[in-house]
Amino acid sequence: MSYTDLVNKEKAIKLLLSRGVTIRDIADITLTIQKQYYENLTIEYCEENVIKVLEKTEVQNVIFTGIALDILCEKGLLPEPLNELVASDYPLYGVDEILALGIVNVYGSIGLTNFGYVDKEKVGIINKVDKIGKRTDKCMTFLDDIIGAIAASSASRIAHNRIKE
Ligand code: MG
Repeated sequence: MSYTDLVNKEKAIKLLLSRGVTIRDIADITLTIQKQYYENLTIEYCEENVIKVLEKTEVQNVIFTGIALDILCEKGLLPEPLNELVASDYPLYGVDEILALGIVNVYGSIGLTNFGYVDKEKVGIINKVDKIGKRTDKCMTFLDDIIGAIAASSASRIAHNRIKE
């Protein structure tokens, strides 16, 4: 891991925290979707894997980009029609999911399957973030997909490591 990746990992963690999301929150989703396959899976091991995912340049870049768009949208600073599309979390907008795929992409097809699942079922903190986005003036349009993608990628990482063992 390069020095920049290390520094940006810390920045990404802080940025997620500033939006109300902890590593534990994301690891909880990973645990929920993987515990049925691995009976000894612990929350600590899931957290380790979330942190490993956050060390990837591609992952950090998606976090910086997506959360920046959410924040700019809250301030009304995106040009129209984009601000309204993002603010209303318009179902056919879809760029939030596409951007998050940039995270899942690093981890192959198991990541993709898990991403679809957590997005549909709104597991754990995703449900909370989704409600905040709908009921307050906070914009969480990109954040919910980013969380789902990190959790899905961590799950994929765990699966790949178990196969290697
Ligand atoms: Mg979204």
